[in-house]
Amino acid sequence: MSNILVINCGSSSIKYALLLDDHDYRIYGLAENLGTPNARISGITEGQEKFEVELGQADHKQALEVAMERLKKFHFDAIGHRVVHGGEMTEAQLIDQDVIDHIKATSALAPLHNPAHLVGIDATLKMYPDLPQVAVFDTAFHQSMPEKAYHYAIPKKLYEEHGVRRYGFHGTSHAYVSERASTLAGQKNQGGWLVAHLGNGSSTCAIWNGQSLDTSMGLTPLEGLCMGTRSGDVDPSLHHFLATNLGWDLDRIDRMLNRESGLLGISGLSNDMRTLIDASEQGNHDATLAIEVFVYRLAKSLAAMSCALPQIDGLIFTGGIGENSAYIREKVIKSLPHFGFSLDSEKNKTRGQEIRIDAGTGPMIWIIPTDEESRIAQETRQVALNALETA
Ligand code: AMP
Repeated sequence: MSNILVINCGSSSIKYALLLDDHDYRIYGLAENLGTPNARISGITEGQEKFEVELGQADHKQALEVAMERLKKFHFDAIGHRVVHGGEMTEAQLIDQDVIDHIKATSALAPLHNPAHLVGIDATLKMYPDLPQVAVFDTAFHQSMPEKAYHYAIPKKLYEEHGVRRYGFHGTSHAYVSERASTLAGQKNQGGWLVAHLGNGSSTCAIWNGQSLDTSMGLTPLEGLCMGTRSGDVDPSLHHFLATNLGWDLDRIDRMLNRESGLLGISGLSNDMRTLIDASEQGNHDATLAIEVFVYRLAKSLAAMSCALPQIDGLIFTGGIGENSAYIREKVIKSLPHFGFSLDSEKNKTRGQEIRIDAGTGPMIWIIPTDEESRIAQETRQVALNALETA
């Protein structure tokens, strides 16, 4: 069970990565703009050779066929599918009809993602009916949250009858980086970690002895932090206000909160943190404000997450912003003056590498580049091996 293909079918893109046991590189590809005239696929094939092909107006199924054709010459033992919403599934599952039905039933909670995952699963099951295929859920890692962390303070019946609760996302990333930091620190997955996964989507997590005890995302990936285009937390009465005073319907409100808010909404400029930092340095007030809101809300969330932990051993930065931006990391640490963090400003200049960047007093601070594919492959391998043993 050595070579694992990881597939991530998103709402308008497909990512794949083939993790080969006897090579230190990966074969990977990204098909994007699916369903538009600009559909294309690019990536790296064997020998680290780059490729890029226009796909006409290919949809998910057609793009996947092109991707699988490119992968035909390689041997793999199992396929791991990233699935955003697994409801109350606590771990990765060998895909059978029950698991497919469960992913379908959970689609109401992730209407952009779960149906796309099902297209990918259906296609690869037809192409490779004899290979073990595994669904790895973004939500599963957070199933260890205690009841007090996952209940909303709304009538309990909505949870019991309709599954309305906090689920949390980015689970494979939070699990991967906390395990990695713990290993590098010689803690064997023990102790308390705060994680800041900061990318286009962002979330925080509180992890104790390898288990998620709380996280900032909720029923959907909209709750919590200020993100690239997502608002994060707002007053729930905002819907009522906008409907009553502006005549907006639910779709309009949903679009605004998911696609027109966050860094983009406040700056009116971009959802890209690099663009905002550059603009802020040139005196753009709204870019500066967007960064300040991002950092302040992140610090508040980390402080809130600390309530879940008996003790804080360290803070981990990951995701495109967390891994690369010394500027944001420094601002976040400055916004948490009561936690005893001290940053080594030279080490903080590091980008995209595993490194401990605290000055040696107070809790540890780590940069850990996330690797969701490696975690998905690891879980896929485990589930497929267990299935072989019990067969
Ligand atoms: P991700 O979704 O994890 O790929 O992260 C994307 C985000 O990372 C975007 O907002 C990028 O602007 C941001 N990012 C990448 N490199 C840097 C950098 N050097 N400084 C600040 N932000 C960065």
